[in-house]
Amino acid sequence: MSKKIFLYDTTLRDGAQMKGINFSLEDKLGIVDQLDKLGIDYIECGWPSSNPKDEHFFKLIKNVRKNHIKIVAFGSTRHAKNKVEEDINLIKLVESGADAVTIFGKTWDLHATKALQIPLEENLVLIEESVSYLKKNGIKEVFFDAEHFFDGYKDNPEYSLKAIKAAEKGGADVIVLADTNGGTMYYEVGSIIEKLAKELKIPLGIHTHNDTGMALANTIEAVRKGAIQVQGTMNGYGERTGNANLCEIIPNLQFKMGYEGLGNNIKRLTKTSRYISEIANMSHSENMPYVGNGAFAHKSGVHVNAVMKDPRTYEHIDPELIGNRRKVLISDLAGRSNVLFKAEELGIKLDKDSEAVKKAIELVKDYENQGYEFEGADGSFELLLKSAMGTRKYFFDLENFRLIVERNKKDITKSCYRMTSEATIKMVVKDSEKIHIVSEGDGPVNALDAALRKSLIPHYPLIENIRLIDYKVRVLNSKSGTASKVRVLVETMNIKTKEKWGTVGVSENIIEASFEALIDSIEYYLHKK
Ligand SMILES: [Zn+2]
Repeated sequence: MSKKIFLYDTTLRDGAQMKGINFSLEDKLGIVDQLDKLGIDYIECGWPSSNPKDEHFFKLIKNVRKNHIKIVAFGSTRHAKNKVEEDINLIKLVESGADAVTIFGKTWDLHATKALQIPLEENLVLIEESVSYLKKNGIKEVFFDAEHFFDGYKDNPEYSLKAIKAAEKGGADVIVLADTNGGTMYYEVGSIIEKLAKELKIPLGIHTHNDTGMALANTIEAVRKGAIQVQGTMNGYGERTGNANLCEIIPNLQFKMGYEGLGNNIKRLTKTSRYISEIANMSHSENMPYVGNGAFAHKSGVHVNAVMKDPRTYEHIDPELIGNRRKVLISDLAGRSNVLFKAEELGIKLDKDSEAVKKAIELVKDYENQGYEFEGADGSFELLLKSAMGTRKYFFDLENFRLIVERNKKDITKSCYRMTSEATIKMVVKDSEKIHIVSEGDGPVNALDAALRKSLIPHYPLIENIRLIDYKVRVLNSKSGTASKVRVLVETMNIKTKEKWGTVGVSENIIEASFEALIDSIEYYLHKK
């Protein structure tokens, strides 16, 4: 039978401390739902005593149906000057209606004397009283978060031990050892937990931060030494360098160490991780282990060839196990196998000895010599394959475009110049008369995009559904100064189906490169219709 570790997520509390993250009420409800479906055991949802928003959230979440996940409220031990039964923080924790409560307390003597400014003995009393108050008032599970535990233990092991023993005496269900400053090495975690095991009966949990890049190693080492609860955040979000990343911890526990983990639900991990990055409005890290878009991406021809024969040659696990996918990057190393693999991935069947494949390889090499790169530009690559196969269709015939960029007088209120851009396009669509459209935009590319849409929507109304969502420019041969070539990468999304595709354009003229990528984006979409 596989071993059980309790998975505890703190994305909504510690994760939300990250610069740039701000979860709305709806965001939080969505995240709880996704993590419940994933099979996470506990989710910490905030401090009911710290702000009315969190308090309101606990009221709402109480009535939401959940399959498995337990809602945890977070707070601190009582204030030194309060009687335990009069401490508003503890009262709000009880009233939150949460399934479990985590309270943090000082276990480093330095913090008790410097931060709380109370005698060391008094700190022990308030830990014990606070835990026992929560237990007596009906909280089924109380976790004691031993703040700065490892730093405290290194400084004064006797006192730190006394502090967690006070929590044990108060009736805590798990003592969570926190590496709050993230400065502890994994071997220190290991040896400290070994010593604790001799002193304590109560189960241990682990909560680490990634300030030395050790958050994952520290968590794994704690589990190896017997910790049964692991705390972390999705995608490793958190203050400074972040918290331990559950998207790394869980598959390691499950695939490498034989723990139960999420069982079959682990197939949802990749999409949950990406869902949360969308909600957090953070770009999803390409090279994140297991769930990153590039975690199973192969580029060199030799690797691709080997992976096609047997994926174990360059993959430590099957990407499908965590719901990720193998990817083959089309690069200047592109050989036959890359092209074939990529075609298959795009759902295009090609015979490996066909003329179309030969032609496609020639085209890839030719384009790449000019500075094109098809990584991130699947849309343009598919159009290239269609050209090679002779199945590419042309939906409109562009006669010309003209662009005017105008700098107007300084806007006194904004202390900057007012810029306007206007694009004019002439084209023939289907059997129409020549179309002649003028459109304005926030910038030249925006004006061009607007003019293209205005020209095409009457003939292809589905174009209404697509939006340009990302635009990147890279300068290719920077030695030539302003005459350098640029590569533009455009990402487009179908707002109905959420399908995304990338297209590419290269030119010495940034407008031309952008226009090319825009045209590819629309043509790719029209081919699909
Ligand atoms: Zn923390």
